[in-house]
Amino acid sequence: MKNNSKVEVKKINKILIANRGEIALRIIQTAREMGIKTVTIFTEEERGLPHCTAGDEAFCLGAGSLKDTYLNQAKIIEIARSCGADAVHPGYGFLSEKSSFSKLVTASGLIFIGPSSESIDLMGDKKSSKIKIQELGVPSIPGYHGDNQEMSHLCKEACRLGFPVLIKASAGGGGKGMRIVNFESEFQSAFEGAKREALNSFGDDTVLLEKYITSPRHIEIQVMSDKHGNHFHLFERECSIQRRYQKIVEESPSPAVTPELRAQMTAAALKITSGINYIGAGTIELILDTDEKFYFLEMNTRLQVEHPVTEMVTGLDLVRLQILVAQGEKLPFKQEDLKQAGHAIEVRLYAEDPDNDFLPSIGTIKKIGKSTLLHTRLDCGYIDGNEVTISFDPMLAKLISWGETRDLAADKLILALNEIVFIGVKTNRDYLKRILSLSEYRQGITFTNFVKTYEDKLKPKKKTKEEIALAIAAALFSSKINGHNGNPANGEIKKSADVWSSLSGFRNI
Ligand code: ADP
Ligand code: ADP
Ligand code: MG
Repeated sequence: MKNNSKVEVKKINKILIANRGEIALRIIQTAREMGIKTVTIFTEEERGLPHCTAGDEAFCLGAGSLKDTYLNQAKIIEIARSCGADAVHPGYGFLSEKSSFSKLVTASGLIFIGPSSESIDLMGDKKSSKIKIQELGVPSIPGYHGDNQEMSHLCKEACRLGFPVLIKASAGGGGKGMRIVNFESEFQSAFEGAKREALNSFGDDTVLLEKYITSPRHIEIQVMSDKHGNHFHLFERECSIQRRYQKIVEESPSPAVTPELRAQMTAAALKITSGINYIGAGTIELILDTDEKFYFLEMNTRLQVEHPVTEMVTGLDLVRLQILVAQGEKLPFKQEDLKQAGHAIEVRLYAEDPDNDFLPSIGTIKKIGKSTLLHTRLDCGYIDGNEVTISFDPMLAKLISWGETRDLAADKLILALNEIVFIGVKTNRDYLKRILSLSEYRQGITFTNFVKTYEDKLKPKKKTKEEIALAIAAALFSSKINGHNGNPANGEIKKSADVWSSLSGFRNI
C-alpha cells in the first residue's frame, strides 16, 4: 500500500449535505457513527420530510425552482460557511458531478467529499472521458465524439458506424438526451430531439454518437482511491434491468460475470483510476455484449444510487470510506482483503403507476411498511404523512436484500416487498415483484432490453372472480375492524376498497 507522506490528515467535524431524501439520511447515518455533525438543507415545500430534521442542524433554502434551491451553489456555500461546516457531501444527482461546485467548495476553504474538479471535468463529461479512455487503452464503444456538431456531419458519421446508432447528450445523466436511430431517414428528427432534451436538462446540447449495442448487459465496477495513490475495486454490480435507460433492479455479483471476466473488468477499471490519479468513490460503467466483449460506457464520479448492494456483499461502508479519503487517510485494507460474499439485490421503488404507462403518482403517504426480515435494508426518504410531489425525483426508496445465493436474495426481496407498502400513492412495487419472480430473471437472462422483451409477461394478471370477491370481503372486514359493527355505508365500502387497492394494486372494484 502506497503512503504519500505529503498528504495532510485533517479530521472533518461537520458535513453540510448538499442533497435530500434517502441519500441525505444515508450520509447522516455514517457521519453520526464517525462522530461527525451534519447539516441538511431543504426547500419550503419539503418541511416535514425526514431529512429536514435528521441531522444536527438544518437550513431552509426557501421556495423556487431547483436552480434557486438544490442547484444554487452560492447559497449552499454561504450556508456551509455560516454554520461552520468544514466539508460538503454532494450525494448523487444535483451538484455531485458539477466541477464548478467542487471548485467553489474547495476555494471556500471547505473539503469536497468527492474527486478533484479536474477528475470531474475529465470523466463527468461523456465526450472527454471517451477520449481519455482511448488513450489509456481501455476498449470503448465505437462512436463519434468529435467537435463537429453539424447535423450533416454527424449523420455521415452515423452511416460510417452503421445503424442502429445511439445519439447521446455529452453532459447526459439519468438516461436523458438519448435517442436510438435505426435508419438514416430517422436521423434528423432524433438528432433534434436529443439536442432539445439535452439543452433543457443539462444546459448543454453537445451530443456524441455511439454504435448501439444490441441486447447488452450493464455491468459496472465500483472503485475507491485514496490520496496516497492507492486504487481499489470493490467488484461489479449488474444493473441491466432498466426502464427508459434508468436502472430499477441492481445486483452484485452479476450472474454473467465469470472470475476471468471479473479479473479483466476490474483490471480495466483500475487502469482508468490509476491512469487519471482518481481520488474517492467512483463507478466505471461497462457494456457487455453477447460475445462477452466489454466496452467503457461512462464513469460516474460520485456515490451511486445502487451502492448498497456493494456494501451488502463486501461488508464495507462506502460513505465512511469516502469520508476517510476526504480526510486524507489511507484506505484501511489491501485489495486481497476484499471479498464478495453472498448475493445482494436492490430494487428502486418509484411513485409511479405501472398500469398507466408509469405516469408519476403524487399524493400523501398514509403509511409506509417496514421490513422485518433479516439481511434486508430499506433506504427511504419519506415517513408516514409526507407529501409526494412532482418537484423531485419520483424515487421513494430503495429496498435491498442479501442472501447466500442469488435465488435466496430474490426470494427474500419479494417477501420484503410484500411488507413495504406505500399506502396513499401508487408505486411500482408489484411490477418489481413480477420482475424478480420471472423465470428468465431467475435464470440470469438479464440484459438492458429485459423489460421491453418481457413486457407482456410483466403485466399484472387479471383478477379472477374469486379474487374480486375476496377483495370485497377484505374491504368490508377492514371497515369492520376499524370500528364499524353494523353494515358500512356505501362510502365506507369505497374507502376501504381504496385501501385494499393501494395495498394490492387491485383495480376496477
Ligand atoms: P445511477 O447510476 O447512480 O443510478 P443516474 O445517472 O441514474 O445514476 O442518476 C442518479 C440520480 O441522479 C437519479 O435520481 C437521477 O434522476 C439524478 N440525476 C442524474 N443526472 C442528473 C442531472 N444531470 N441533473 C439532475 N439530476 C440528475
Ligand atoms: P446515463 O448517463 O444516462 O446513465 P449511459 O451512457 O450510462 O447514460 O447509458 C445509460 C444506459 O443506456 C446504459 O446502461 C445502457 O442500458 C444504455 N446504453 C448506453 N449506451 C449504449 C450503447 N451504445 N448501446 C446500447 N445501449 C446503450
Ligand atoms: Mg450511466
